[in-house]
Amino acid sequence: MRAFTYERAASPADAAGAIATRQGAKFIAGGTNLLDLMKLEIETPTHLVDVQDLGLDDIEETEDGGLRIGTLVTNTALAAHPRVRRDYGVLTRAIVAGASGQLRNKATTGGNLLQRTRCPYFYDPNMPCNKRKPGSGCAAIAGASRQLGVIGTSDKCIATYPGDMAVAMRLLDAVVETVKSNGETRAIPIADFHRLWGDTPHIETVLEPDELITAVTLPRPLGGTHLYHKVRDRRSYAFALVSVAAVIQPDGTGRVAFGGVAPRPWRVEAADALLPQGAKAVVDRAFADARPTEDNAFKIPLAERTLAGVIAEARS
Ligand SMILES: Cc1cc2nc3c(=O)[nH]c(=O)nc-3n(C[C@H](O)[C@H](O)[C@H](O)COP(=O)(O)OP(=O)(O)OC[C@H]3O[C@@H](n4cnc5c(N)ncnc54)[C@H](O)[C@@H]3O)c2cc1C
Ligand code: SF4
Repeated sequence: MRAFTYERAASPADAAGAIATRQGAKFIAGGTNLLDLMKLEIETPTHLVDVQDLGLDDIEETEDGGLRIGTLVTNTALAAHPRVRRDYGVLTRAIVAGASGQLRNKATTGGNLLQRTRCPYFYDPNMPCNKRKPGSGCAAIAGASRQLGVIGTSDKCIATYPGDMAVAMRLLDAVVETVKSNGETRAIPIADFHRLWGDTPHIETVLEPDELITAVTLPRPLGGTHLYHKVRDRRSYAFALVSVAAVIQPDGTGRVAFGGVAPRPWRVEAADALLPQGAKAVVDRAFADARPTEDNAFKIPLAERTLAGVIAEARS
């Protein structure tokens, strides 16, 4: 690990200001992703601004009946919150399908949204990787791509966004709230938050370097049956090959989002309308532009079977 300096910020403005004034500085929250990447020297921040003392760890009701989740709310606290369990069950289910109890105790809402891909070549500094080292090439495209993306990918990078929580947040139309060092605030719909890789796979979100996530808001509840099915190589402690988040209403209408298949949680609103026609109709529409590799083409029929299981569970 490279040497770095460290400070604990006392307010969101201090934290954003400290990043803006130090070249190579980064925020650190739970540290469960960033520290691993620093040990491998994939991330080499010169200065860490710890955001744990910012007091952004409450979950509050919003005026329209939704919830505002402070960025430092841990995954454990969010999944266990009574309003989340009652009204946003898909979020609880997605969070507890991720990582381990110990990791969820440390992992924060903002940090979880910003976790980096699990492409094996990204984690191997000896291999070319356009995301780790822009312009160096992509070892995965002609390599072992079983875990990687089938849609929304590019000729430069076929990695996936690996998280679970964000798939449920995308389904629920969450909004990411931020503040920059100049005090400017933004409310970014989660649909626009994670970028498609395109020619610049090292730029993963629309955040500016000095932009701090302060909260995530959820709109008022949708009702219906909330489900999250995650298919992985081991029953626990593994990232999704494919996951399906869904809210299904008693008449069979609803919404669907997929994880483990694309650079961001994958939802095609036009496909939601096809839910009453069944899993094949939804997946045919949601994956119409897919460009799978030979290794990972199985993810598309797997997404269909996983969604069929979700629909069957909602009916039972
Ligand atoms: C073994 C293992 C298994 C895992 N399995 C899963 C899994 O199955 N599913 C899953 O979803 N996740 C999984 N994870 C990932 C884990 O959930 C993430 O590491 C965690 O959520 C990151 O949160 P953190 O608070 O520790 O972030 P950190 O590591 O502190 O930060 C991550 C990134 O976010 C930035 N950041 C943090 N907070 C802010 C903020 N407020 N504003 C702006 N930038 C910020 C940091 O600069 C850094 O770039 C796993 C992790 C491990 C180590
Ligand atoms: S798929 Fe993306 S992350 Fe993986 S090696 Fe290629 S460029 Fe790197």
